[in-house]
Amino acid sequence: DNVRKPFVAGNWKMNGNLALVAEFNQKLAGLKAKAEVVVCAPSLLLHAFETDSFSIGTQNVSHLDNGAHTGELSVDLLKEAGCSYAIVGHSERREDQGESSELVALKAKKCVAAGIVPIICVGEPLDVREAGEVEAFVGEQLDALVDKMSIEELSKTVIAYEPIWAIGTGKTASPEQAQEVHEFIRTYFSKVDATLAQSLRILYGGSVKPDNAETLFAQKDVDGGLIGGASLKAEDFISICQAAN
Ligand code: PEP
Repeated sequence: DNVRKPFVAGNWKMNGNLALVAEFNQKLAGLKAKAEVVVCAPSLLLHAFETDSFSIGTQNVSHLDNGAHTGELSVDLLKEAGCSYAIVGHSERREDQGESSELVALKAKKCVAAGIVPIICVGEPLDVREAGEVEAFVGEQLDALVDKMSIEELSKTVIAYEPIWAIGTGKTASPEQAQEVHEFIRTYFSKVDATLAQSLRILYGGSVKPDNAETLFAQKDVDGGLIGGASLKAEDFISICQAAN
């Protein structure tokens, strides 16, 4: 397990403002955590972070270089803004913006080419879980990545398993449910490349809170978390970061 440095990323979604950035700058300064810590904030806030103890990321990125694509942000621009991570394929975007697994793979590939680490989200809705088809569903999301990206490229990514029924619902996956899918994901990648599978960090996301983080992160194949709601409170986020070790 210790080949993989623990990782905790916050996803502020469409929340936060300059005042919250200032609070994070102050409260996370000098943060001591074994985990690599990232805050993925709305892009317009990125300029205001003072990141001595954590990195910053965005929540989406274009798969294209630049040009006539109104409203999109390029990897180059995000790099210039100090961004070293990007969430891609969050279920809210897959649903609200109709992002396909193929598009998500292209976004991830673009990030890697620019030196941005994509945090690639996968995960099933409730009906798929109830039908017992989690592995087929998540497997298809992973197929699109393997189809578009080389082993070398995949090794520069982070995967986040986020069961949709657990996002923002307060219904966390049990540690056993999380571990089961994380193990499936790692096994999936081991068929692509054994070294890749061993070094790939797989985060759990879905109602992670200070009081459940430690048990989730203690699972063998859970290397940290992607944190939504609880990443908006500095104290909660800090205690979750410290639970990853
Ligand atoms: C998320 O949206 O990535 C997430 C995990 O949200 P929450 O922690 O609020 O469930």
